[in-house]
Amino acid sequence: MNLLEVRDLNVHYGAIHAIHDVSIDVEAGQIVTLIGANGAGKTTILHTISGLHKATSGSVTLEGHDLIKTEPSKIVTLGMAHVPEGRHVFAHMTVEENLEMGAFIFSKNKSATTESIQDVYNRFPRLKERRRQLAGTLSGGEQQMLAVGRALMAKPKLLLMDEPSMGLSPILVKEIFKIIEEVHKQGITVLLVEQNAKMALSIADKAYVLETGRIKMSGDAKELMSNDDVRKAYLGV
Ligand code: ATP
Repeated sequence: MNLLEVRDLNVHYGAIHAIHDVSIDVEAGQIVTLIGANGAGKTTILHTISGLHKATSGSVTLEGHDLIKTEPSKIVTLGMAHVPEGRHVFAHMTVEENLEMGAFIFSKNKSATTESIQDVYNRFPRLKERRRQLAGTLSGGEQQMLAVGRALMAKPKLLLMDEPSMGLSPILVKEIFKIIEEVHKQGITVLLVEQNAKMALSIADKAYVLETGRIKMSGDAKELMSNDDVRKAYLGV
């Protein structure tokens, strides 16, 4: 059964028609990736799924709940969290305060927040070591870890991740993809947007290739990895 269904989505920025009739299915337990060049529309799709940008037409449902008509904060309570492009950690707040922000939906329940912070620290011991450090002073890789940890604070079923490898060294890119696989192994479904098609296809079950706001190809990630068009356009082969 699909956890997330996007059907015939169209999105505009004023007169610019950015997304054309896009449909995406994410089954519970999968890693699904959306790959495409700069400006293809990947971030716009994630923002629309999260309720941060309004669709012109089409539908987005999470376990049958209509997300198009739902406020972003309510969407988090339905079980979806978003790790934004560029991480957007709160630079002048400590690591722990950033994590607390991710649990704002449980703000009336202190013990749930404390428990979630412990879970994140168990998963990312480096964040525990740096709990009192200002987030803006962390390395890029640590900030990405914090952005993932903050999203996990809401205990999502589905994690949307926007370009987690952006701006990271090859070693840190490997580390971040390992983290995504670990999070997934613990039962969280992932919709991953990436320009690093090679890494994304290597961990995904299913993939969609986006070009100028349209889905050009979709299918089994490993099959797409050996598709000649994908290899030429996205894998530099
Ligand atoms: P990137 O990898 O660079 O983030 P992307 O695939 O995520 O690219 P989007 O950022 O979703 O692509 O952009 C899709 C299209 O919409 C582009 O043509 C972009 O110029 C346009 N666009 C994005 N944001 C806006 C905006 N706020 N106003 C006008 N046009 C926008």
